[in-house]
Formats: sequence, structure tokens, C-alpha cells
Amino acid sequence: MKHLEIKPGEKPPTRDFPTEKGFSNANLQPAEVKVHPSGSGDENASIFFVGTATTILEWEGIRVMTDPNFLHAGDHVHLGPGVTGTRKTNPAIDLHDLPNIDLVLLSHYHADHFDQKVEESLRRDLPIITTPHAASHLKGKGEGEAFTEVYDLDFYNNMLVDVKKDGAQPGKSPAIKVTGMPGKHVPSGVLGSLNDLVNAVPPTNGWMVELGYNTSGGSDDSFKCGYRIYISGDTLMVDELKEIPERYKGQNIDLMLIHLGGTTVPSPSVPLLMITMDAKQGLELVRLINPDLTIPIHYDDYDVFLSPLSDFKKAMEDAGLSSKVVYLDRKDQYKFQVKQ
Ligand SMILES: [Zn+2]
Repeated sequence: MKHLEIKPGEKPPTRDFPTEKGFSNANLQPAEVKVHPSGSGDENASIFFVGTATTILEWEGIRVMTDPNFLHAGDHVHLGPGVTGTRKTNPAIDLHDLPNIDLVLLSHYHADHFDQKVEESLRRDLPIITTPHAASHLKGKGEGEAFTEVYDLDFYNNMLVDVKKDGAQPGKSPAIKVTGMPGKHVPSGVLGSLNDLVNAVPPTNGWMVELGYNTSGGSDDSFKCGYRIYISGDTLMVDELKEIPERYKGQNIDLMLIHLGGTTVPSPSVPLLMITMDAKQGLELVRLINPDLTIPIHYDDYDVFLSPLSDFKKAMEDAGLSSKVVYLDRKDQYKFQVKQ
């Protein structure tokens, strides 16, 4: 298994600092804090929702950011030949107001997940875990521009991220096990004129993110998971996902971050091909994965997201699953407990 060590840092996540405002490593200030409906009261970790698929996980002094996208309402993204989207929402925080980020999880190399400004700005030594496809782009940008700490994971490959924290309990150090989960951004069997479009949609991962502790010298089998998060990535509800609950049989999935939106390309006026889950597929995935709790992300942010969050809310209500979902608006935070 690959290993990566991270030490909670004090560096801004971007290289084009300082700005007039200066760098603040202060904690994120949520608009609203939510907990599990059965709230344990011992929450020691959190997820802050920035917008699209951008979230910031805080635990044991480190911050992990998913799919950084900091475009604003009215900005355009290029999603393939002849395909652009217009953002409808603002991120909860601006790229240059971010506190230190220790690690980025990038599900795939698509501009609504890693926009041009993010690509220009992020500091080059920020560790990024991503797909082999995205890794080759990020590492191959030429001198001074290439990202230097990129790790690629294929489906079901995993790596252990050791958190080197001052004052950690001896013999029990925090670690994150990250495993690539299958994803399929385009349906199989799409024909003819859509070929260019289909080829332009990059391969995508989902993730299993297990927060836990290394209980002895750091060998692979000494990792004990205390909270398990499945992040769907920009996948459709495809048969390949059925392997996930089989592989994790007997292991609780505490939380699912589900990418919804029903992204339909090339445009809202020519809706030919759906490339992310709508409400119906989202509900199917909830049933398949059966997590303790689901939090939808990647909804209502772009004009090509044709399935609004309200559709998913209704589908969950109709299925009697309202108690299994928490809704975060941008700038809201969800707090949870990683078991020791
Ligand atoms: Zn997307």
C-alpha cells in the first residue's frame, strides 16, 4: 500500500499569496452546524460544504479538501467540445480566503471540479490524490507548473495517509485510508455523433475515506477505522457500483456524500446525455450503499444540472428515508464522531 505523510501545516493553499487580506489559518466559520439526527454529542470531526463537490473535512488538526471549484455565479466552465456550463451559485468561501489545506482529493479532471483558477493558483506541493488520468495532467504541466505531490489510485487501490501530529498519543496515530471507488461518468453504448463528447468526459473515481488510527508501528494491518465515508464522485448509477457493498460487507458506511445534479449535456436546451445521477438514480444508490446517513452535494450549482435538489428530497420522502439524510446548504457544516 502507498503511504503519504502529512503534517498539519500553516501554509496557504495557494501560491499566488499574499493578497491584501493576508492569510488566516483560522477555522472555517459555518452559517449553520448540523449533526446526525440521533446526535451523539461527542463530535470530533466536521465537513464544511463549499459548493458543487467542494467540501472541507476537518479532523485531528488537518483539512482535506475535495474537488476544488471556486468559480462564482455567472462564470463559465468548459466541459467538453461545444459544452459549457454557467455557474449559478457562489462558493461559501473564496479560494484566497481558505485556511491551510493539507490534502486534496480530486475525483476527476473536469472544470467543475478543478477549475482553471484553482489549477493556476494551488501551491504546487499540495498533496493531491486523484485518478491516473488526472495525475498525468497535473504532473505533466512542465517545469514550475507541474504539481509535485500527486498520487493516483485506480478503482479499489488504496493508500494510507499518516497524520504526523505533535502531541499524538504514542502508539496511536491518526491516519486516513483512501480507496478509489468505481465511477462511470458516461453511460455505456452511447453512439455516433456523441462520440467526441463522450471521449471528452474524463474517467472518474469515487472514494472510500476511512478516518481512524494506526495502533502500532504503522504496518498496514494496524489501521483501525473509526468513521467511514463513501464519496460517489460524478458517477451514474451503474452495475459496477454493486461491487462496493459486497467488498464492504459487514463494515458500516457511516456517511455517503452523493454527487447529484443530473448533469445533462451538451446544454439545458439540448439535453441529450445525462452524465451524473438524478434524483431517481440517487435514491437507487442510497438503497444500494445503505449508509447511516447521506448528504447530497453537487446540486443546483450549474445550469447543466437539470435535476434539482428538491427532486431528491421528494424521492427520499416518498421512500420513507427522510431520517437518513441531512441537507447542507453552501457554508453549512456537518459534525460527526470518529470513534477512537
Ligand atoms: Zn461534476
